[in-house]
Amino acid sequence: MKLWSQFFIPTLKESPADADITSHKLLVRAGLVRKLAGGLYTYLPLGLRVMRKITQICREEIERGGGIELEMPHLHPVENWQHGPRWPAAREIMFRADSAGDGKRPSREPEFVLGPTHEEVITPLVKAEITSYRDLPKNFYQIATKFRNEIRPRYGLMRAREFVMMDAYSFDVDDPHAIVSYQRMKAAYEAFFRRIGAHAIAVEADTGVMGGSFSHEFMVPAEVGDDDVIYCEASGYAANREKATSALVPKDLADAAPVGATELFPTPGIVTIAALEAAPYSVPADQQFKTLVFMGDGKPFVVILRGGDELEEAKLGSLGFTLFRPATPEEIEPVMGARPGSLGAVRGTIKNAGALAGVFADYAIRLIGNGVTGANQDGHHLRNVNVARDLAVTKFGDFRRVRPGEPCPLSGQPLQVRRGIEVGHIFKLGTKYSEKYGAAYTDDQKQSHPMVMGCYGIGIGRTMQAVIEQSHDADGIVWPWAIAPYQVLVCVLDPQLPEAMELATRLAAAAEAAGADVLVDDRAERPGVKFKDADLIGIPLRVTIGGKGLKEGIIELKARTSKDVRKVPLAEAETQLAAAVHSCRGVA
Ligand code: ATP
Ligand code: MG
Repeated sequence: MKLWSQFFIPTLKESPADADITSHKLLVRAGLVRKLAGGLYTYLPLGLRVMRKITQICREEIERGGGIELEMPHLHPVENWQHGPRWPAAREIMFRADSAGDGKRPSREPEFVLGPTHEEVITPLVKAEITSYRDLPKNFYQIATKFRNEIRPRYGLMRAREFVMMDAYSFDVDDPHAIVSYQRMKAAYEAFFRRIGAHAIAVEADTGVMGGSFSHEFMVPAEVGDDDVIYCEASGYAANREKATSALVPKDLADAAPVGATELFPTPGIVTIAALEAAPYSVPADQQFKTLVFMGDGKPFVVILRGGDELEEAKLGSLGFTLFRPATPEEIEPVMGARPGSLGAVRGTIKNAGALAGVFADYAIRLIGNGVTGANQDGHHLRNVNVARDLAVTKFGDFRRVRPGEPCPLSGQPLQVRRGIEVGHIFKLGTKYSEKYGAAYTDDQKQSHPMVMGCYGIGIGRTMQAVIEQSHDADGIVWPWAIAPYQVLVCVLDPQLPEAMELATRLAAAAEAAGADVLVDDRAERPGVKFKDADLIGIPLRVTIGGKGLKEGIIELKARTSKDVRKVPLAEAETQLAAAVHSCRGVA
C-alpha cells in the first residue's frame, strides 16, 4: 500500500491553457504528466504506473503472439538510414545528433539520428545473425522510446516528439508464413486492447506503394481523432479514409447512349467545377469530368474523376510510381495544351499525349453519360462526352474518396463515417527492407531467398490517453481496472485518529491479498477535497473511513462508475472489500 502523503500526485483544479481536448486536460489535472516543452512530457509517478501496466499487458500479449523481446539503441548511425529504402522521406521527421568535442565542425549530414522506428536497425541485425530457414520464423519486439520531429506536436501524449512504442518486426520464409505471423499479431493486438479496457477496432489501412491489402490500423473511435474511419454496422466493414471503397459503381454498368457528337463551346474565365455548375452553364458537378495532372517519377500522368468527387491521393500509390506530386501549371501546359481549368482527356485533344505516363480514370466516371470536360484550349469545354467512346483511358482504378451514405462494398447498406485515434498499426512489409539490406536465408535446397517481413507498432502513451478520452466523466478519469494506477483508494477522513489509520491498514492488506494495488489517502485535507481528487484520478474502488462512521460501526464502499455508496458494517468490511475486488477483477 502507498500513503498519499508520502507519494506525489499533484492534482490541479484548472486545466492547462494549451490543452484543447479532455484527455489532455485530465492527464495534467490528475497529476499523470507534466510538460517540459511541446511534445515532451515527464511521466509523474501516477502516470508512470499506468504506462507500466499497459506495457506489461502489451508484453504478455505480444509474447503470446510469438514476439521475442530485445532492445535496440535509440541513437542510430546515419549510415543505417542512408542505406535503407526511405531515407529521403524519413529524414524530414528525424532528430539529428552530432558528437561534440572533437573539434570538427558538424558535417552537413549528422553522424547519428534518433530512431523514429527501427526497421533500419533490426534488418541488418537479422541479416548478420540469421541465415537458414531452420531459424525462421522470428518476431523481435521492444517497448521503447521513439523520437519524431512532428510538425505539429499536440494533444499531449497523442502526438508527441518523444513517445513510447511497442515495435515488432517479423521475419518469415515466404508470403503464406508471413501472413500467419501477421494474423497472430492481429490477434495479439485484439487481446491487448480488450485486456486494457480500450474499445479499439481493426480498420483496413492503405499499404501505399507496397500494394496488397495487408495493413490494419487499430482505431479508438473518438471525436478528437485525427483519422476518419468509414464503416458499416451491418457487415462490420471498416477502413480508413485512404483505403475505403464502396459499391457505388455497379460492376455490370452499361455505358449511357451518346446523344450526339462531342461539341466545343466557349467558357471564358470558367476554371472550376463550381463555376460550370452555376448558370448559365448549369452542369451538375457529377456530370463533369475533373482532369488532374501529376508528375510520377519525372513523367506527367492524368487522373480523371467525377467533378463532385475528391481525389484520395494515397490511392494513387497503387499506380506504382515511387514518388508523385501534383504537376505545376508550367509543367501541364506544354503537355495538355491548356492550363488547369480547361483540361480534359478526350482523344485527339491532348497536345502531346505521347509524353504522358498514362491516363488513369476513376471507376465512378463510368456513371457519367454525355458529360462535360475541358477541351485543352483555354476558355473552352466539350459537351456530349462519353467515357468509352471519347476518353483515352489507359486504366481504370479506385482513386476517389468515398462519401458517407454510399453502399458498403460488403452489405450494400449506407456507409457511415466517424473519427478515430490510431493507437496501433500492423503492416505486411514484404521484402522491401530485406532486399535492401540483404537479409536472406537459404532453404533446404541451398537456394537463397529474401526474408518476408512484417512490422507492427502500438503507441503506449497514445493508448493511455485514448483510454482516458474514451473513459471519463465530468468529474475525472474512470480507469478500467487492469490499467488503473491503483485499484483501491482508502480514503481516511480523520487520519489523526489512530483507529482510523489502523483500520485503513487492515483494509488495504485485505484488498491487496485479493489482488488490488492500494493507495491510502491519509492527507489532512477536507473530505470535499479528498472526494474530488478521488474522482479526478479515477481509482475504480473507493473505501471511506470516517470518525463518524467508526462510531456508527460502518465504512463506505463506492465504485467510481456509480453514484451508490454502500454502508458496510465494520465486522464485514474486510470480506466485502475483498469480494468487491474479486468481482472487479472478474474472479469468481
Ligand atoms: P500518425 O499517422 O498518427 O502520425 P503513424 O502512422 O506515423 O501515426 P506509426 O509509424 O504506424 O504511426 O507508429 C505506430 C504507432 O505509434 C501509432 O499507431 C501510434 O499509436 C504511435 N505514434 C505514432 N506517432 C506518434 C506520436 N507522434 N506520438 C505518440 N504516439 C505516436
Ligand atoms: Mg500508421
